[in-house]
Amino acid sequence: MMIKTGFPRCLVLVGAAAVLTACGSLGAATEPYTGSRHGAPMPPASLASRLDDPPSPSQPPPGQEPDPRPPASPGPGSEGQGYEGEAQGGAFPDAPPGSGDASASTPPPAAGPSGTASASPRSGSLGGASDAYRRWGLDRPLERPPAPPAVKPALGRSGPQQWGLPPIVRRVPTDQRVVFVTIDDGIEKDPRFVEQARELGLPFTGFLTDNVIGDHYDYFDELRRLGNPMENHTLTHPSLAGMAYDEQVREICGQRDILWNHFGQQPRLFRPPFGEYDETTLRAAGFCGARTVVLWRAEMETHGLAYRSGDHLLPGDIILAHFRGPEQLEGQSMTDWITELVRAIQAQGFTIGRLEDYV
Ligand SMILES: [Zn+2]
Repeated sequence: MMIKTGFPRCLVLVGAAAVLTACGSLGAATEPYTGSRHGAPMPPASLASRLDDPPSPSQPPPGQEPDPRPPASPGPGSEGQGYEGEAQGGAFPDAPPGSGDASASTPPPAAGPSGTASASPRSGSLGGASDAYRRWGLDRPLERPPAPPAVKPALGRSGPQQWGLPPIVRRVPTDQRVVFVTIDDGIEKDPRFVEQARELGLPFTGFLTDNVIGDHYDYFDELRRLGNPMENHTLTHPSLAGMAYDEQVREICGQRDILWNHFGQQPRLFRPPFGEYDETTLRAAGFCGARTVVLWRAEMETHGLAYRSGDHLLPGDIILAHFRGPEQLEGQSMTDWITELVRAIQAQGFTIGRLEDYV
Protein backbone atom coordinates (compact mmCIF):
# COMPACT_ATOMS: atom_id res chain seq x y z
CA MET A 1 0.00 0.00 0.00
CA MET A 2 2.78 2.40 0.80
CA ILE A 3 4.26 1.92 -2.59
CA LYS A 4 0.94 2.42 -4.27
CA THR A 5 0.24 5.66 -2.44
CA GLY A 6 3.76 6.98 -2.82
CA PHE A 7 4.12 6.31 -6.52
CA PRO A 8 1.77 9.01 -7.77
CA ARG A 9 3.48 11.57 -5.56
CA CYS A 10 6.73 10.65 -7.11
CA LEU A 11 5.28 11.34 -10.52
CA VAL A 12 4.16 14.75 -9.40
CA LEU A 13 7.60 15.56 -8.13
CA VAL A 14 9.20 14.34 -11.30
CA GLY A 15 6.78 16.47 -13.27
CA ALA A 16 7.62 19.55 -11.24
CA ALA A 17 11.31 18.91 -11.66
CA ALA A 18 10.81 18.60 -15.38
CA VAL A 19 9.15 22.01 -15.47
CA LEU A 20 11.98 23.57 -13.54
CA THR A 21 14.56 21.79 -15.63
CA ALA A 22 12.89 22.91 -18.80
CA CYS A 23 13.16 26.55 -17.76
CA GLY A 24 16.69 26.15 -16.46
CA SER A 25 17.80 24.54 -19.65
CA LEU A 26 16.83 27.64 -21.55
CA GLY A 27 19.79 29.42 -20.08
CA ALA A 28 22.13 26.78 -21.37
CA ALA A 29 21.12 27.53 -24.91
CA THR A 30 23.94 29.45 -26.48
CA GLU A 31 22.34 29.72 -29.88
CA PRO A 32 20.49 32.98 -30.28
CA TYR A 33 16.86 32.69 -31.12
CA THR A 34 16.49 32.73 -34.85
CA GLY A 35 12.82 33.01 -35.51
CA SER A 36 11.44 34.38 -38.70
CA ARG A 37 11.47 37.97 -37.47
CA HIS A 38 15.03 38.01 -36.28
CA GLY A 39 18.28 36.34 -37.05
CA ALA A 40 21.66 35.84 -35.50
CA PRO A 41 23.36 38.89 -34.01
CA MET A 42 23.08 41.75 -36.41
CA PRO A 43 25.74 44.30 -37.31
CA PRO A 44 25.61 47.18 -34.83
CA ALA A 45 24.39 49.82 -37.24
CA SER A 46 21.53 47.80 -38.63
CA LEU A 47 20.54 46.55 -35.22
CA ALA A 48 20.67 49.98 -33.69
CA SER A 49 18.17 51.14 -36.22
CA ARG A 50 15.76 48.55 -34.88
CA LEU A 51 16.37 48.50 -31.17
CA ASP A 52 13.69 50.43 -29.36
CA ASP A 53 12.99 52.64 -32.31
CA PRO A 54 9.29 52.80 -32.90
CA PRO A 55 8.37 50.41 -35.68
CA SER A 56 6.56 51.63 -38.73
CA PRO A 57 2.85 52.16 -38.20
CA SER A 58 1.99 49.16 -40.31
CA GLN A 59 4.06 46.77 -38.23
CA PRO A 60 2.71 46.67 -34.72
CA PRO A 61 0.62 43.69 -33.81
CA PRO A 62 -2.34 44.33 -31.54
CA GLY A 63 -1.86 44.88 -27.85
CA GLN A 64 1.63 46.32 -27.94
CA GLU A 65 2.79 49.67 -26.69
CA PRO A 66 4.92 51.29 -29.35
CA ASP A 67 6.80 54.27 -28.04
CA PRO A 68 6.75 57.23 -28.15
CA ARG A 69 3.36 57.08 -29.81
CA PRO A 70 0.54 57.40 -27.32
CA PRO A 71 -1.07 54.19 -26.11
CA ALA A 72 -4.25 52.94 -27.67
CA SER A 73 -5.95 52.86 -24.31
CA PRO A 74 -6.17 55.78 -21.91
CA GLY A 75 -4.11 55.81 -18.76
CA PRO A 76 -0.34 55.90 -18.89
CA GLY A 77 1.55 58.78 -20.32
CA SER A 78 -0.78 61.64 -19.63
CA GLU A 79 0.54 64.68 -17.86
CA GLY A 80 -1.77 64.18 -14.93
CA GLN A 81 -1.19 60.48 -14.55
CA GLY A 82 2.13 59.37 -15.83
CA TYR A 83 2.00 56.08 -14.06
CA GLU A 84 -0.61 53.44 -14.28
CA GLY A 85 -3.78 53.39 -12.32
CA GLU A 86 -4.92 51.69 -9.23
CA ALA A 87 -3.06 50.49 -6.19
CA GLN A 88 -1.16 47.29 -6.55
CA GLY A 89 -1.62 45.80 -3.12
CA GLY A 90 0.74 43.18 -1.88
CA ALA A 91 0.91 40.86 -4.81
CA PHE A 92 4.62 41.47 -5.27
CA PRO A 93 6.28 42.01 -1.93
CA ASP A 94 9.59 43.78 -2.04
CA ALA A 95 13.03 42.32 -1.82
CA PRO A 96 12.62 38.58 -2.17
CA PRO A 97 15.59 36.46 -1.25
CA GLY A 98 18.17 36.58 -3.99
CA SER A 99 16.71 39.60 -5.70
CA GLY A 100 19.09 41.62 -7.77
CA ASP A 101 19.98 44.44 -5.47
CA ALA A 102 23.42 45.07 -6.81
CA SER A 103 24.47 47.55 -4.19
CA ALA A 104 23.67 45.17 -1.40
CA SER A 105 25.75 42.29 -2.56
CA THR A 106 28.54 43.64 -4.68
CA PRO A 107 31.90 44.85 -3.49
CA PRO A 108 32.44 48.57 -3.09
CA PRO A 109 33.55 50.32 -6.23
CA ALA A 110 37.21 50.70 -6.86
CA ALA A 111 38.80 54.09 -6.65
CA GLY A 112 38.49 56.13 -9.77
CA PRO A 113 41.40 56.43 -12.14
CA SER A 114 43.92 59.21 -12.05
CA GLY A 115 43.50 59.71 -8.34
CA THR A 116 40.17 61.43 -8.60
CA ALA A 117 38.23 61.74 -5.38
CA SER A 118 35.36 59.68 -6.64
CA ALA A 119 35.96 56.37 -5.00
CA SER A 120 32.52 56.33 -3.45
CA PRO A 121 29.99 57.50 -5.98
CA ARG A 122 27.12 56.71 -3.63
CA SER A 123 28.27 58.99 -0.83
CA GLY A 124 28.02 62.74 -0.47
CA SER A 125 27.57 64.75 -3.59
CA LEU A 126 27.42 62.34 -6.42
CA GLY A 127 30.14 64.28 -8.13
CA GLY A 128 32.39 63.83 -5.13
CA ALA A 129 34.82 66.48 -4.09
CA SER A 130 36.63 66.34 -7.38
CA ASP A 131 36.08 68.45 -10.40
CA ALA A 132 35.31 65.36 -12.42
CA TYR A 133 32.07 66.94 -13.55
CA ARG A 134 34.06 69.51 -15.48
CA ARG A 135 36.05 66.80 -17.17
CA TRP A 136 32.79 65.34 -18.41
CA GLY A 137 31.42 68.64 -19.64
CA LEU A 138 29.02 69.48 -16.81
CA ASP A 139 28.64 72.85 -15.14
CA ARG A 140 28.10 71.35 -11.71
CA PRO A 141 28.31 67.95 -10.02
CA LEU A 142 25.40 65.58 -10.03
CA GLU A 143 23.37 66.47 -7.00
CA ARG A 144 22.68 63.73 -4.53
CA PRO A 145 19.10 62.50 -5.06
CA PRO A 146 16.59 62.76 -2.23
CA ALA A 147 16.34 59.84 0.13
CA PRO A 148 14.09 57.21 -1.40
CA PRO A 149 10.85 56.35 0.37
CA ALA A 150 11.07 53.86 3.21
CA VAL A 151 8.32 51.90 1.53
CA LYS A 152 8.39 51.59 -2.22
CA PRO A 153 5.36 53.19 -3.85
CA ALA A 154 2.62 50.90 -5.03
CA LEU A 155 2.57 50.47 -8.78
CA GLY A 156 -0.70 50.36 -10.59
CA ARG A 157 -2.09 48.14 -13.24
CA SER A 158 -4.31 48.75 -16.22
CA GLY A 159 -4.98 47.46 -19.69
CA PRO A 160 -4.14 43.79 -19.98
CA GLN A 161 -2.65 43.65 -16.50
CA GLN A 162 -4.26 41.35 -14.01
CA TRP A 163 -3.68 40.31 -10.47
CA GLY A 164 -0.79 37.95 -10.34
CA LEU A 165 0.99 39.57 -13.26
CA PRO A 166 3.89 41.98 -12.83
CA PRO A 167 2.91 45.65 -12.83
CA ILE A 168 4.02 47.99 -15.59
CA VAL A 169 5.70 51.28 -14.79
CA ARG A 170 6.84 54.08 -17.04
CA ARG A 171 6.82 56.78 -14.37
CA VAL A 172 7.42 56.15 -10.70
CA PRO A 173 4.73 57.61 -8.44
CA THR A 174 6.67 60.24 -6.50
CA ASP A 175 6.57 63.98 -5.87
CA GLN A 176 10.34 64.14 -5.53
CA ARG A 177 12.20 65.96 -8.27
CA VAL A 178 13.99 62.83 -9.25
CA VAL A 179 14.12 60.94 -12.54
CA PHE A 180 15.61 57.60 -13.49
CA VAL A 181 18.03 56.77 -16.29
CA THR A 182 17.83 53.41 -18.02
CA ILE A 183 20.33 52.33 -20.67
CA ASP A 184 19.39 49.53 -23.02
CA ASP A 185 20.69 46.79 -25.30
CA GLY A 186 24.48 46.91 -25.01
CA ILE A 187 25.74 47.57 -28.52
CA GLU A 188 28.40 50.09 -27.47
CA LYS A 189 31.00 49.05 -24.90
CA ASP A 190 32.87 52.34 -24.51
CA PRO A 191 35.44 51.98 -21.70
CA ARG A 192 35.31 55.72 -21.14
CA PHE A 193 31.67 55.39 -20.13
CA VAL A 194 32.78 53.24 -17.20
CA GLU A 195 35.05 56.10 -16.14
CA GLN A 196 32.27 58.60 -16.65
CA ALA A 197 29.74 56.61 -14.64
CA ARG A 198 32.27 56.09 -11.86
CA GLU A 199 33.54 59.65 -11.68
CA LEU A 200 30.14 61.29 -11.90
CA GLY A 201 28.49 58.71 -9.67
CA LEU A 202 25.81 58.33 -12.32
CA PRO A 203 23.05 55.97 -11.20
CA PHE A 204 21.38 54.03 -13.98
CA THR A 205 19.80 50.70 -14.74
CA GLY A 206 20.99 48.61 -17.68
CA PHE A 207 18.62 46.44 -19.68
CA LEU A 208 20.76 43.95 -21.54
CA THR A 209 20.10 41.99 -24.73
CA ASP A 210 22.31 38.97 -25.13
CA ASN A 211 22.90 38.89 -28.85
CA VAL A 212 24.50 42.33 -28.99
CA ILE A 213 26.67 41.67 -25.96
CA GLY A 214 28.12 38.33 -26.93
CA ASP A 215 31.30 37.71 -24.96
CA HIS A 216 31.43 41.17 -23.39
CA TYR A 217 29.52 40.71 -20.16
CA ASP A 218 32.66 41.70 -18.25
CA TYR A 219 32.18 45.26 -19.45
CA PHE A 220 28.68 45.38 -18.03
CA ASP A 221 29.84 43.68 -14.85
CA GLU A 222 32.19 46.63 -14.30
CA LEU A 223 29.25 48.96 -14.51
CA ARG A 224 27.17 46.69 -12.30
CA ARG A 225 29.85 46.71 -9.62
CA LEU A 226 29.57 50.48 -9.48
CA GLY A 227 26.05 49.91 -8.19
CA ASN A 228 24.13 49.92 -11.44
CA PRO A 229 21.85 46.87 -11.76
CA MET A 230 21.78 44.96 -15.02
CA GLU A 231 18.30 43.79 -15.88
CA ASN A 232 16.55 41.67 -18.50
CA HIS A 233 15.91 42.83 -22.08
CA THR A 234 15.58 39.39 -23.79
CA LEU A 235 17.99 37.22 -25.70
CA THR A 236 17.52 38.63 -29.20
CA HIS A 237 15.36 41.76 -28.93
CA PRO A 238 12.24 40.63 -30.78
CA SER A 239 8.90 42.37 -30.62
CA LEU A 240 7.26 40.03 -28.15
CA ALA A 241 3.67 41.07 -28.71
CA GLY A 242 1.90 38.34 -30.60
CA MET A 243 4.59 35.71 -30.07
CA ALA A 244 3.66 32.34 -28.59
CA TYR A 245 4.01 31.94 -24.84
CA ASP A 246 6.79 29.38 -25.13
CA GLU A 247 8.81 31.66 -27.40
CA GLN A 248 8.37 34.58 -25.05
CA VAL A 249 9.41 32.42 -22.12
CA ARG A 250 12.50 31.35 -24.03
CA GLU A 251 13.47 34.97 -24.71
CA ILE A 252 12.88 36.16 -21.16
CA CYS A 253 13.90 33.15 -19.07
CA GLY A 254 16.86 32.59 -21.35
CA GLN A 255 18.26 36.05 -20.72
CA ARG A 256 17.41 35.77 -17.04
CA ASP A 257 19.57 32.67 -16.80
CA ILE A 258 22.44 34.24 -18.72
CA LEU A 259 22.41 37.27 -16.43
CA TRP A 260 22.29 34.94 -13.45
CA ASN A 261 25.26 32.97 -14.75
CA HIS A 262 27.37 36.05 -15.38
CA PHE A 263 26.45 38.20 -12.40
CA GLY A 264 25.26 35.70 -9.81
CA GLN A 265 22.02 37.57 -9.38
CA GLN A 266 18.60 37.12 -10.84
CA PRO A 267 17.26 40.19 -12.62
CA ARG A 268 14.23 41.74 -10.94
CA LEU A 269 13.10 43.99 -13.74
CA PHE A 270 12.13 43.29 -17.32
CA ARG A 271 11.81 45.62 -20.28
CA PRO A 272 10.18 44.33 -23.46
CA PRO A 273 12.03 45.37 -26.62
CA PHE A 274 10.48 48.39 -28.32
CA GLY A 275 8.20 48.66 -25.29
CA GLU A 276 5.92 46.20 -27.08
CA TYR A 277 4.11 43.58 -25.06
CA ASP A 278 0.85 41.74 -24.64
CA GLU A 279 -0.74 39.83 -21.82
CA THR A 280 1.28 36.77 -22.79
CA THR A 281 4.42 38.85 -22.22
CA LEU A 282 3.31 39.69 -18.71
CA ARG A 283 2.59 36.04 -17.98
CA ALA A 284 5.96 34.99 -19.38
CA ALA A 285 7.79 37.76 -17.53
CA GLY A 286 6.11 36.78 -14.29
CA PHE A 287 6.95 33.12 -14.87
CA CYS A 288 10.58 34.09 -15.42
CA GLY A 289 10.73 35.98 -12.14
CA ALA A 290 10.30 39.57 -13.29
CA ARG A 291 8.63 41.56 -10.56
CA THR A 292 8.09 44.74 -12.56
CA VAL A 293 7.90 45.53 -16.27
CA VAL A 294 9.70 48.83 -16.85
CA LEU A 295 8.81 51.07 -19.78
CA TRP A 296 9.67 54.77 -20.12
CA ARG A 297 8.08 58.20 -20.48
CA ALA A 298 11.03 60.06 -21.98
CA GLU A 299 13.69 58.93 -24.42
CA MET A 300 17.15 60.33 -25.09
CA GLU A 301 17.35 60.58 -28.83
CA THR A 302 20.45 61.49 -30.79
CA HIS A 303 19.90 65.19 -30.22
CA GLY A 304 17.98 65.51 -27.02
CA LEU A 305 15.05 64.29 -24.98
CA ALA A 306 11.73 63.29 -26.51
CA TYR A 307 8.67 62.92 -24.33
CA ARG A 308 5.77 60.56 -24.53
CA SER A 309 3.59 63.54 -23.73
CA GLY A 310 4.25 67.18 -22.96
CA ASP A 311 7.60 68.87 -23.40
CA HIS A 312 9.39 68.40 -20.13
CA LEU A 313 10.34 65.91 -17.47
CA LEU A 314 7.99 65.06 -14.64
CA PRO A 315 8.86 63.74 -11.18
CA GLY A 316 9.50 60.04 -11.33
CA ASP A 317 10.00 59.88 -15.09
CA ILE A 318 11.86 56.87 -16.38
CA ILE A 319 14.19 57.89 -19.22
CA LEU A 320 15.27 55.51 -21.97
CA ALA A 321 18.80 55.76 -23.34
CA HIS A 322 21.00 53.16 -25.04
CA PHE A 323 24.52 51.85 -25.09
CA ARG A 324 25.29 53.56 -28.36
CA GLY A 325 28.39 55.04 -29.93
CA PRO A 326 29.50 57.15 -32.86
CA GLU A 327 28.17 54.69 -35.41
CA GLN A 328 24.64 55.07 -34.08
CA LEU A 329 24.88 58.66 -32.80
CA GLU A 330 25.98 60.53 -35.90
CA GLY A 331 29.56 60.63 -34.71
CA GLN A 332 28.91 61.45 -31.07
CA SER A 333 30.61 59.38 -28.42
CA MET A 334 28.48 57.68 -25.82
CA THR A 335 30.05 59.79 -23.09
CA ASP A 336 29.25 63.06 -24.86
CA TRP A 337 25.71 61.84 -25.37
CA ILE A 338 25.29 60.90 -21.74
CA THR A 339 26.69 64.27 -20.73
CA GLU A 340 24.04 65.90 -22.90
CA LEU A 341 21.41 63.82 -21.14
CA VAL A 342 22.67 64.74 -17.67
CA ARG A 343 22.79 68.41 -18.61
CA ALA A 344 19.20 68.25 -19.82
CA ILE A 345 18.12 66.63 -16.57
CA GLN A 346 19.99 69.18 -14.46
CA ALA A 347 18.64 72.07 -16.53
CA GLN A 348 15.10 71.02 -15.63
CA GLY A 349 15.92 70.93 -11.94
CA PHE A 350 15.94 67.17 -11.44
CA THR A 351 18.35 64.79 -9.81
CA ILE A 352 18.92 61.21 -10.90
CA GLY A 353 17.78 58.49 -8.55
CA ARG A 354 18.27 54.79 -8.43
CA LEU A 355 15.28 53.03 -9.94
CA GLU A 356 15.64 49.94 -7.79
CA ASP A 357 15.12 52.10 -4.71
CA TYR A 358 11.61 52.82 -5.95
CA VAL A 359 10.43 49.74 -7.84
ZN1 LIG B 1 16.12 47.61 -26.66
